[in-house]
Amino acid sequence: MDIIERDIEVLWHPCTQMKDHENLPLIPIRRGEGVWLEDFAGKRYIDAISSWWVNLFGHTNPRINAAVREQLDLLEHVMLAGFSHEPVVTLSERLVKLTPPNLKHCFYADNGSSAVEVALKMSFHYWQNQGKTQKTQFVNLQHSYHGETLGALAVGDVAIYKEIYAPLLIPTLTAPSPAGCYAKGEESYEEYARRQFKQMLALLETQADKIAAVIIEPLVQCAGGMRMHHPVYLSLLREACDEYQVHLIADEIAVGFGRTGTLFACEQANISPDFLCLSKGLTGGYLPLSAVLTTDEIYQAFYDDYLTSKAFLHSHSYTGNPLACRAALATLDIFAEDNVIENNRNLAQVMKEATRSLQDHPHVSEVRQQGMIVAIEMVKDKASFEPYPWQERRGLKVYKYALEKGALLRPLGNVIYFMPPYVITPEQIYQVADIAQAGIDIATC
Ligand SMILES: *Cc1c(COP(=O)(O)O)cnc(C)c1O
Repeated sequence: MDIIERDIEVLWHPCTQMKDHENLPLIPIRRGEGVWLEDFAGKRYIDAISSWWVNLFGHTNPRINAAVREQLDLLEHVMLAGFSHEPVVTLSERLVKLTPPNLKHCFYADNGSSAVEVALKMSFHYWQNQGKTQKTQFVNLQHSYHGETLGALAVGDVAIYKEIYAPLLIPTLTAPSPAGCYAKGEESYEEYARRQFKQMLALLETQADKIAAVIIEPLVQCAGGMRMHHPVYLSLLREACDEYQVHLIADEIAVGFGRTGTLFACEQANISPDFLCLSKGLTGGYLPLSAVLTTDEIYQAFYDDYLTSKAFLHSHSYTGNPLACRAALATLDIFAEDNVIENNRNLAQVMKEATRSLQDHPHVSEVRQQGMIVAIEMVKDKASFEPYPWQERRGLKVYKYALEKGALLRPLGNVIYFMPPYVITPEQIYQVADIAQAGIDIATC
């Protein structure tokens, strides 16, 4: 039996209707190098979406490989309760230095959803410890995505992932999305964000006494369709959260580590959240790890004699795994040694030029970009923005075409996007853009 048959016999793949694989071939990857993934037949694919947004500096990066190998001979894992190790301490010191100024303490988990769970629980628990026991609710944004575990799913707002589980989920308060793709006529992204903020403000004004936190993906709502908003929304939100005593949770799991043009997206609004969730690019796409950074004020609200029962008794078995922390340190070394943010600025400019002509495509409503993310939205009707019905699966046509031509693009519904590793070259960007353009032509004809 070949590997595909063996796979289908025993595996259940993530985010997949397994029956699709009766017609849609699964692609087993034998090796990776830089932006390339190579299958068992020797065919190569440009990983234009960084393997679900995790990879930053290419596959089998020599520098990260070396760091993980070295750590492997020293210590593979030790529990983090009562014990510690060098990689997790150094990583925490460096994250505290690199992230916005008020964040002073790192709590670890092993994937993004778990980080979101930690932030939600910590926020709620903080208010309990402060005697504000009625602060039990969370505010999220329309189209937001924060992961798949029940708590994270509850504060997300993407119907296809969430709808069926509704009876299991804690209720949330939802404010309209600030994403500028719905701006009317001449209205700018900034004006739209300010207008949408009014409804968020109204929620906080009227219900702050029962709200623990607002959770937001700064600048780009990724899984909800790469919807982008102006940083003024974040500044206004920070101000309002301070005024109404509500925590601000910044979920930078997808947008952190240089993806939006700055190391962290919050920097573009010059704000410091009460919780910052990091994962995905944290280890350069090598190993599962996540971190929640928080303020000293929140940390101190849990710090007391054991018998007061204020401790945060949350844990995951692989919390702060040394191999993952070493991969993260090697990733931060690359940021420190190479001129990553500046190089990305040049690559982002190439991405802009390479996709410019798509703006005029008769079935593209918008080409939008934030740093190293470009998204192209296919619509049935360009004038009215009428979307293609989801049942037509137009994005899947682009996916199939791109694979045939040697690129991994995995559209979100009708939104085609690139989110490439930072080691992609200008030529490769043009190659991906050409493939996307031809794929969109085929999918929309
Ligand atoms: C991917 C993602 C998550 C969930 O992370 P997992 O590691 O897949 O659980 C949470 N929030 C955002 C913004 C994400 O993009």
